[in-house]
Amino acid sequence: MSEETKAPWMLDEGLDGDMSGDAGFRGNSMTRFRMKKASDTSIIFLTDGPKFRILWEHEVKIAGFYGNFFGCLQMLGLPCPLCQLALSEAPRGVGKRYKICVATIVHLTEYTDKKGAVHKNERRFFCAKAATVEILNRKYRSRVEAGQTLKYAMYKVARTSNEKGAAVGEDFEFVKMIDPAALPDATELDYSTFAPNPALVKTLIGSLPSAESFGSKPDDFHPPGTDSTDDSVKY
Ligand SMILES: [Zn+2]
Repeated sequence: MSEETKAPWMLDEGLDGDMSGDAGFRGNSMTRFRMKKASDTSIIFLTDGPKFRILWEHEVKIAGFYGNFFGCLQMLGLPCPLCQLALSEAPRGVGKRYKICVATIVHLTEYTDKKGAVHKNERRFFCAKAATVEILNRKYRSRVEAGQTLKYAMYKVARTSNEKGAAVGEDFEFVKMIDPAALPDATELDYSTFAPNPALVKTLIGSLPSAESFGSKPDDFHPPGTDSTDDSVKY
């Protein structure tokens, strides 16, 4: 950093400066596969059945928005302040932890995001809760019986208009096996963004609104139209 342009509040400067670290509270939520209600799409799994990663996470409401995910610190063997808050009388937007089973997929249907950017054939994290995992395990066994794998299998996926339907879809119809050489990138995404982060959780806890300003009804937490309410794994 040069002395001429350096201000005391700057971390670094230049396009080759240090941009590592703090990914913000949204974590990997922007790279998660989600479907609109009453829609269908096509996906290819890049992860085989036995390789799905199972972990605990919390969903937290920040500045009025859900969809902020934090790994439970108990996965590191540490006391988890998010668990303590979620189970308290004043959870302040912190949901109880639940299990997810994570894989990488390719999302085949072209779509345009809110900023106008067009997405096609991009890899996404597929985060399934317990009910979806049961469905997928049956799909996986069908592929094994056919002498194939879930990895590189293409499925047509549908999500119903049910308020409590899983955001990753509820109906999976096998289409065909795909030659990975035909894909732009058939490698799995980096799962390290799911790692529990004690420093980030500490910052988060410090930034949450007070119990008084938040309102402290535990049932306030679950938003309509997400799959947070139906198949959370109790512990
Ligand atoms: Zn926790």
